[in-house]
Amino acid sequence: MELEIVRYGHPVLRKKGQPVAAVTPALARLAEDMIETMRAGHGVGLAAQQVGQVVQLMVIDVRGVTDRPSSIELGGQEARVDDFMPMVLFNPAWKAAGAPVESVEGCLSFPDLFAEIRRPARIDVEALDIRGQRLSFRCGGLLARVIQHEFDHLQGILFIDRMMREDKDQLRPQLEALRESTQAELAQRAVAKR
Ligand code: ZN
Repeated sequence: MELEIVRYGHPVLRKKGQPVAAVTPALARLAEDMIETMRAGHGVGLAAQQVGQVVQLMVIDVRGVTDRPSSIELGGQEARVDDFMPMVLFNPAWKAAGAPVESVEGCLSFPDLFAEIRRPARIDVEALDIRGQRLSFRCGGLLARVIQHEFDHLQGILFIDRMMREDKDQLRPQLEALRESTQAELAQRAVAKR
């Protein structure tokens, strides 16, 4: 089932996700719905907060992006990225395994907004997969960037928090307009519910 994507200005985007004790059928279903929602939005990643849930859960699918390669290694062995897609990560944690690089990012909660963000090019990741199995891998390129972007969402951190000052200043009118339209919509819905 496709879910509604929450936009900038909604307070849930600033909430920290709760770790999951176990991957229940309801959480697995949420992950499946998030994959469907991400695909419908032509995104490469989605965090639970973006569908209004405060859970440590992200979904990723970098297939189809050919101009920005991704890599994955398990136990020092290079593996095929596509074999891991779509990827579902519960309770993810990561550590840098390479120097930071700048690259352009967007976000489904910020339609039509893009900026260069500096993040480690390679990272080591640990998480639980959709069956609740422990998953441990090293990744690079776009995949490493998406995981870090979604990890931030799970902590209530947004990519605008990591933008360079000049970029954020330039985007400020668009950001303000987006925040105001989201808040106006939320207010309208609250009235409709009464
Ligand atoms: Zn995002």
